[in-house]
Amino acid sequence: TSADIQTEVVVIGAGPGGYTAAFRAADLGKKVLLIERFADLGGVCLNVGCIPSKALLHTAAILNEAREMETCGVHFAPPKIDLAALLTWKNGIIKRLTGGLAGLAKQRKVTRLTGMAEFVADHRLQVTTAEGLKTVQFEQCIIAVGSRPIKLAHLPWSDDRLMDSTDALALRDVPERLLIVGGGIIGLEMATVYHALGSKVTVMELTDQLIPGCDRDLVKPLQQRIAKQYAGIWLNTKLENIVTKPESLEVSLSRDGALEKHDFDKVLIAIGRQPNGAQLAAEKAGVTVTERGFIPVDRQMRTNVAHIFAIGDVVGQPMLAHKAVHEAKVAAENAAGHRAFMDARVIPSVAYTDPEVAWFGVTETEAKAQGLAFEKGVFPWLASGRALSMGREEGVTKLLFDRDSRRVIGGGIVGLSAGELLAEAVLACEMGADVDDLSLLIHAHPTLSETIGFAAEMATGEITDLY
Ligand code: FAD
Repeated sequence: TSADIQTEVVVIGAGPGGYTAAFRAADLGKKVLLIERFADLGGVCLNVGCIPSKALLHTAAILNEAREMETCGVHFAPPKIDLAALLTWKNGIIKRLTGGLAGLAKQRKVTRLTGMAEFVADHRLQVTTAEGLKTVQFEQCIIAVGSRPIKLAHLPWSDDRLMDSTDALALRDVPERLLIVGGGIIGLEMATVYHALGSKVTVMELTDQLIPGCDRDLVKPLQQRIAKQYAGIWLNTKLENIVTKPESLEVSLSRDGALEKHDFDKVLIAIGRQPNGAQLAAEKAGVTVTERGFIPVDRQMRTNVAHIFAIGDVVGQPMLAHKAVHEAKVAAENAAGHRAFMDARVIPSVAYTDPEVAWFGVTETEAKAQGLAFEKGVFPWLASGRALSMGREEGVTKLLFDRDSRRVIGGGIVGLSAGELLAEAVLACEMGADVDDLSLLIHAHPTLSETIGFAAEMATGEITDLY
C-alpha cells in the first residue's frame, strides 16, 4: 500500500543530532523528512537543556561577580531580580535559535512533520500528528530521539514543588530552601543558578564525589568554593522518599547507616537521563534496543539494520550535544553513500558551574586503573598573574602525557572559563601534539591560556618552583 509521504532519508527527532543529520543529508542531495513531536526544532539542548541553562548561568556569574567585587573595594547595591523579565530574555534566546533552525531547514528544502513517530516495518513509520496518523515510506532512517530525565516512580510527581531539569529551568520562583538530588553536571549547574538568585541550596550525592567521572583534584576547587556558599553538600547520601506536606516537602534520606528527615520548599531530581529508544517500536524494523533503551551502533553509526542509523543520547554516553552533532554528520554522510567513521580521539566534557570544570581524554583515575605509563603536569592558578588579578586563584590546569611518546592523552581544567580554555588542549590531543609542543608554544601574557603552557612546563621539569 502506498504511504502518505515517501522520502529518501527520514530523521526522527530534531535535537542537535537530528537537525544536523537532516541538514547534512539534504546538503548531500538527499530528499529529507525531519519528524519531531514538538512544534519547535532544537530538541532538549535548545529548548530545555544547554542553551536555557547557559543563559541563566550567565546571569548567575554576573551576580556572583558583583558580590565578590567587595574584596576589591567596589560595592554594589543588592540586585533587584525581575524573574518575569529574566525568563522573557531567556525564552527570547531560545526563540531566536529555534527560529533560525526553522529557516535553515526551509532553505535546504527539508520537509518537516510534527508528530510522534514509530516503526511499523523496516522501511515504514507511522506518525501520530494533530491531523491524525500519517504513514512514511523511507529508504534510510536516522534515529535521533534523545533522552529524558530519569524519574523515580515512587516520588510524588503530581506536586509541582518536585522538579526535573525542565521544571527547574522554567524558574517559576526562587525557593528559600532548595534540595538538589544528584551532584552531576546538570544538578550542579542548576545549583549555581538558584544559589546566585538567592536560594539556600543543598546538594545530595549518592557517591563520595561531586561530578563522578571527573578526577577528584579537578572537582575539589569547585567543591571547596560551594561548600562555603551552599547550605550543605551531602555526599554518600541516598534519597529514600519524599512526602508532600502543606508547607514543605519532607525528604527522608540515609547516610552513615542512619535515616534522617529534612524539610525543603522545593526539590530538584537530577540523577541522570534515560534514552528514548524503547518508545519507537524499533523491533518492528528489526532494530536492536537494549533493556535500558539504548540503540547499539557501529563506528559508521549504523544499527544492526544496515539502512537504519542512530545518533546522539540514544546511542550512549557521553550524553552531550557536540557528540550528537559529530555523530550526525557521520550518519548522514553514510546515508548519502559516502564512507564516514566516528573516530574522534576525545570528546570534551564541561560543567558550566562557578568555577567551571572541564576535562577530556583519559582521566588520571582511569590512567592509573588501566596501568598506563604517563606523566602529568599540574599548574595551580595561584601562580597565574591573570587569575590573581581576576580574584580567582582557585583554578588548576592539569595535563597528562604518554610517557613514551610524550603526547597529550588527557587532562582537565577547573577555573574561570575552563570550558573555553580546554579547546587548546583538546586540539593538541587530537593532533597528536606532545608536551614540548605545548611548553614551547608562545601563549599571550597574561592570559589564563598560559596555564596550559605552564602545566606542560611542570611536566617537563622546566618549572619546578612556582615562586
Ligand atoms: P535530544 O536533544 O534529546 O532531541 C531528541 C528529540 O527527539 C526531542 O526533541 C524529542 O521531542 C524528539 N523525539 C523523541 N522521540 C520521538 C519520536 N518517537 N517521534 C518524534 N520525535 C521524537 N549538552 C552539552 O553538550 N552541553 C551542555 O551544556 C548541556 N547542558 C544540558 C543541560 C540540561 C539541563 C540538560 C537536560 C541537558 C544538557 N546537555 C548538554 C545535554 C544535551 O541537551 C543532549 O546531549 C542533546 O540534546 C542530545 O541531542 P540529541 O539530538 O541526541 O537528542
